Amino acid sequence: MSSTDFSKLNIPLALLSNLNSLGYESMTPIQAKSLPHILKGQDVIAQGQTGSGKTAAFGLGLLTKLDVKRFRIQSLVLCPTRELADQVAKEIRKLGRSIHNIKVLTLCGGAPFGPQVGSLEHGAHIIVGTPGRIEDHLGKGTLKLEDVNLLILDEADRMLEMGFQESLDFIIKQIPSDHQTLMFSATFAAQVKAVAKRIMQQPVMVKVASMHDDSSIMQHVFKANDNAHRFMVLRLLLQHYHPESAVVFCNTKIETQEVADELNQHGFSALALHGDLEQRDRDQTLIRFVNKSISVLVATDVAARGLDIESLDAVINYQIARDIEVHVHRIGRTGRAGNKGFAGTIYTDKEHFKLLKLEEFLGQKITTEALPSENILAKPVYQPRMATLQIDGGKKQKIRPGDILGALTGENGIAGKQVGKIQLFPNKSYVAVDREVLQYALRKISNGKLKGRSFRVRELL
Ligand code: AMP
Repeated sequence: MSSTDFSKLNIPLALLSNLNSLGYESMTPIQAKSLPHILKGQDVIAQGQTGSGKTAAFGLGLLTKLDVKRFRIQSLVLCPTRELADQVAKEIRKLGRSIHNIKVLTLCGGAPFGPQVGSLEHGAHIIVGTPGRIEDHLGKGTLKLEDVNLLILDEADRMLEMGFQESLDFIIKQIPSDHQTLMFSATFAAQVKAVAKRIMQQPVMVKVASMHDDSSIMQHVFKANDNAHRFMVLRLLLQHYHPESAVVFCNTKIETQEVADELNQHGFSALALHGDLEQRDRDQTLIRFVNKSISVLVATDVAARGLDIESLDAVINYQIARDIEVHVHRIGRTGRAGNKGFAGTIYTDKEHFKLLKLEEFLGQKITTEALPSENILAKPVYQPRMATLQIDGGKKQKIRPGDILGALTGENGIAGKQVGKIQLFPNKSYVAVDREVLQYALRKISNGKLKGRSFRVRELL
């Protein structure tokens, strides 16, 4: 029996034979690593992307724990979007089809409330839903979680990114404290870890792809002929690699502004981040950057300190930093879970001594690479995938992320996957949407109602 055989797990025979009929021959890495802990009743935080088999990992745990004869809500699965919730519910039904009378109910925003209340009155074992709508049902007393013994947060990083933290806290308070918690997340961003620490009991951490560590990041080094050529090299790198989110580090404030201005003149979507910005401009710059509605942030080290941006596709050093440790730290900010981002550095002859210092610090030889062909500069400059909407209403107007998501994705709305990060401030909210559906999304919000009121909305530029 191999270590990835489902039969070595302590799961009911009915579930096992069904796995066979589904053609699941052996466990995927995330299943092999997490299921033994899940079945022991431990809290587990697992790094798992869509396609890793994560749904079956928690689905089998959930179905094994379930007591079908008790017709009570025993497990709650929270997902960031309706599409994911539908997919998860479908997979759970498929995995549990050999057990009679299992009732799985989805409760998501963007769908009419009334029929959900009707379904809840008929009872269910498992609820799969989005945090905003679950919170609404709890608020109205149409849903009770007093018998839940298993809570699953799927795509936790995305839920937090969408601003569901307060909803999650509210929901968790309604669940008996001795429940088991499983958290699945594509990244272990600082925010995810912080939430895990608060809501989980000595969680077992399961990683499937190795996360990057700073020293192992491949560095790409390019030589510019002189300072004037340096900007051309930057354009070549951006046009060649098309990073969706890139930070370009400069050594001075003035230079960040100059480089950002020049990039814009050449059609790139770039903003500068430096210490002289007003708080409001800094906030809006960062909102647009994390929303992926601008592609390049040109920053000083000081301004970039404390930025919690986990998924940078590229870090480009416009020069080598004055301090080599700072340089290495900059480079460590690239890469996403599993994948490595691009870490590039531009230098001129004058900085050659710093390159030697860097080699010494890292204990490795760094080779200068050939520049991409200048022909690519004739091509249209790549543009950001998303746009940011600014809504003139926020927390004080009692707007919640679920309201915005519901307004955008409700009847005839855009798809959940076309909605990105949602951020709420006291009197404003910001939401990222696919640029392709920008006009439609603007109309959807301005013609529709949030909390029964119309709010002004515009693209943040
Ligand atoms: P997920 O990452 O949960 O979205 O799952 C990705 C796909 O893999 C789904 O279509 C599952 O039905 C399928 N799947 C999950 N576990 C296994 C397995 N052990 N063997 C084969 N297919 C699987």
